[in-house]
Amino acid sequence: MKRKHTQDFVNDYLLKHVSKDDVMVDATMGNGFDTVFLSKISKHVYAFDIQDKALISTRKKIKDEGIQNVTLIQDSFMNIKDHLKTYKGVVFNLGYLPGSDKTITTTKDITIKTLEMLTSNMREDTFIILTCYPGHDEGLIESKAVLEFVSILDETFSVIKFMLLNKKNKPPFVVVIEKH
Ligand code: SAM
Repeated sequence: MKRKHTQDFVNDYLLKHVSKDDVMVDATMGNGFDTVFLSKISKHVYAFDIQDKALISTRKKIKDEGIQNVTLIQDSFMNIKDHLKTYKGVVFNLGYLPGSDKTITTTKDITIKTLEMLTSNMREDTFIILTCYPGHDEGLIESKAVLEFVSILDETFSVIKFMLLNKKNKPPFVVVIEKH
């Protein structure tokens, strides 16, 4: 059996819940790996990031692969609703761009404000999926805040956590918020 990585949980979930009729949001495009994955299983992807480097890297990837169903937006995920109103799901890969400026990272306050905004009036049959990284300082604060936030959502939501329980040193984990 192949060794499991956190990303496998995310990709398996997305493959099961996203179809070619769905519009998806990649809240943190980074180097574009999730954007490219989503583009192959959905109708259209709106991908957000605040830094130039992410847009340059992702633009190159989608051009090289001839992908046409992606819109890249240089803006904070806090403003997703200024750009589109309906979507099947929002994918967050929190933290900083690997191999890049670690100070350009997602932060507790903005992430929690965004989750508040996305979960208020969340449409039925939609979801949010987040990968959290408690292994670095800001990530630990943010990860704890995400868990606190989701644990008090009312029962019109299902909240699921995926985690490799035998991995050492504060491994990443995945949280899914589904609206019924
Ligand atoms: N999904 C990416 C991939 O496939 O390569 C990796 C994402 S990386 C872990 C996190 C990204 O979040 C960084 O590129 C960072 O610039 C971005 N980011 C940080 N704060 C943000 C915000 N408020 N809105 C949108 N993107 C943000």
